[in-house]
Amino acid sequence: MKITVLGCSGAELPGHNPPGFLIGDDLLLDAGAVTSVLPEEAQRHLRHIFITHGHLDHIRSIPALADNIILRRGWNGVKLYGIKPVLDTIRDHLLNDHVWPDFTNIPNSDNPVMTYAEIETGQWITLNGLKIMAIPVNHSVPATGYLVDFGGRILLYTGDTGPTDEIWRAVERVHTVIVEVSFPERMTAMALKTGHMSPSLMKADLAKLKHPPERVLITHLKPQTSDEIIPEIEALGIPGLTILKDGDVYGM
Ligand SMILES: [Zn+2]
Ligand SMILES: [Zn+2]
Repeated sequence: MKITVLGCSGAELPGHNPPGFLIGDDLLLDAGAVTSVLPEEAQRHLRHIFITHGHLDHIRSIPALADNIILRRGWNGVKLYGIKPVLDTIRDHLLNDHVWPDFTNIPNSDNPVMTYAEIETGQWITLNGLKIMAIPVNHSVPATGYLVDFGGRILLYTGDTGPTDEIWRAVERVHTVIVEVSFPERMTAMALKTGHMSPSLMKADLAKLKHPPERVLITHLKPQTSDEIIPEIEALGIPGLTILKDGDVYGM
């Protein structure tokens, strides 16, 4: 199965889109970049969106996607998955009939464009032959990362987090890690204060895994600092490490 990087940036500039990872063709991890990146034909296949947290850069494509769905003939609804505080943020502050219409009532509540699926952390959800589990992480608002089990090969996606423990210890072996590094070393205090990683914080957290993963994919860099942060990450000498770019595709 393919993972397509729709966006992997920690700030928004031309060519640097906020986080969105397409798994196969119908499931997303985060919805920062969807409607501005994915062709309409591909948007039609989307059915499931797993949200890590309620910050705008991870949910900002949801309103435009809802709008695109209702305009289609023979449309299918999309389910938004997350822990309760994350879904509450979307319900109360985004699809709240003020900022944008409440698409859980459009065209009607029996067959709406969007539905909410509240999930519990630490429990596998089986979907399309995949298993997905949310694990709490350490951010400035309630947030989870996700484990996705592709029939034995496991992807670990941290979402936004500062140093954290539970997600690194949740399973015995992880094949691919998508981990955030937002700030360069000189901004480590800022990273800690805002629930993010600097390169050295990320390296220390990766060492909490029982076995080194085959691939370490870095997301959420602030592109304004790329001349500092990229050499700092590369100097860590972590095997299998790649700094993600929008449009990258990985097989699982
Ligand atoms: Zn965030
Ligand atoms: Zn973010």
